[in-house]
Amino acid sequence: MTSHSLFLLPGDGIGPEVMAEVEKLVHWFSKQGIARFETDRGLVGGSAYDAHGAAISEADMAKAQAADAVLFGAVGGPKWDKVPYEVRPEAGLLRLRKDLGLFANLRPAICYPALADASSLKRDVVEGLDILIVRELTGGVYFGEPKVIGTRDDGAHKGEKYAIDTQVYDTYEIERIARVAFDLAKTRKNKVSSAEKRNVMKTGVLWNEVVTRIHQTEYPDAALDHVLADNCAMQLVRWPKQFDVIVTDNLFGDVLSDVAAMLTGSLGMLPSASLGAPDARTGRRKSLYEPVHGSAPDIAGKGYANPIAMIGSFAMALRYSLNLGDWADKLDRAIAAVLAQGIRTRDIASDAMPANASTSEMGEAILKALQKIA
Ligand code: NAD
Repeated sequence: MTSHSLFLLPGDGIGPEVMAEVEKLVHWFSKQGIARFETDRGLVGGSAYDAHGAAISEADMAKAQAADAVLFGAVGGPKWDKVPYEVRPEAGLLRLRKDLGLFANLRPAICYPALADASSLKRDVVEGLDILIVRELTGGVYFGEPKVIGTRDDGAHKGEKYAIDTQVYDTYEIERIARVAFDLAKTRKNKVSSAEKRNVMKTGVLWNEVVTRIHQTEYPDAALDHVLADNCAMQLVRWPKQFDVIVTDNLFGDVLSDVAAMLTGSLGMLPSASLGAPDARTGRRKSLYEPVHGSAPDIAGKGYANPIAMIGSFAMALRYSLNLGDWADKLDRAIAAVLAQGIRTRDIASDAMPANASTSEMGEAILKALQKIA
């Protein structure tokens, strides 16, 4: 049986609480002989700062580089609000993304029937929703140079400040994210929607051109449509089920994935994956899996945290890094079953379905449901 190395970085706040529920699952998988996992754990964020004076140590970076998959909890909290900027908790996550070359961010938005009433949209609009947003993560306007705030030294607005951000995309950056989207689409409904603003942005023109070429030359069987990013936002709240995979740049992806996220209810439900380029020798991509939520200091230590986003992130690791897609499906079904049974942490409770589970009770209920499905 192949052995998979998992590097766990629980982080701060509720990070360790939700990670503990994943560890129970990992333990069960190993005990059942379904897969062998070698797990190691490290420190990131505030907890790493307290121990090493850095947001992640070099030794832990090396372990992250070597692992088949990194599972990340969450970082940050008021305790570290005043630490120097370079070693602030988020710097650990940014370093991981940068050094592992994680250019593709995958955010599924799945609306479980049992939670359809928790969405701000009508049940029939969101029930059964299953879409995937593929966001370019390492290029575009968040990183392009020049990036400055300056002062006008002449003209009518002399003495006033101005600011510049620059959106740059190279062809290779668009090609590789398009391939990730088309490859993922193959495992779903084989439909990709590419969102940009070619009507007003040069990067949008190039984006459209490159995605079209990759489609025609490498993925002619897939369906492709191009949608302007503003229209995409509108369509996401009008009739989101028209989409399967949406591929878009860093800035639009940031906004569109948050819109899609809210279609499904709580932050505590949302997993994500970040992938790098395939290794030339092994074909394996560097990868990091994390819930979308942060460290939730307001509820840390109380047993209120919903572990589903973290468990869903582990399911994504099974699917995208560990070649255990059938077990990812089973785990997703276990989550759906537990929700259908009416088990609720506080964040997904309603008048009709009051909160009745702590973090560990939710984790254990999912494990039990998985045992039943298995
Ligand atoms: P947050 O996501 O931590 O919390 C927002 C709200 O959602 C809070 O009310 C919280 O209790 C709730 N919530 C979040 N996750 C939940 C879960 N699993 N179950 C139940 N409720 C949950 O965002 P924030 O409050 O803006 O930030 C708190 C800290 O987290 C800050 O230090 C911030 O910098 C950091 N942060 C880290 C990440 C990350 O590690 N990737 C992401 C976002 C924020």
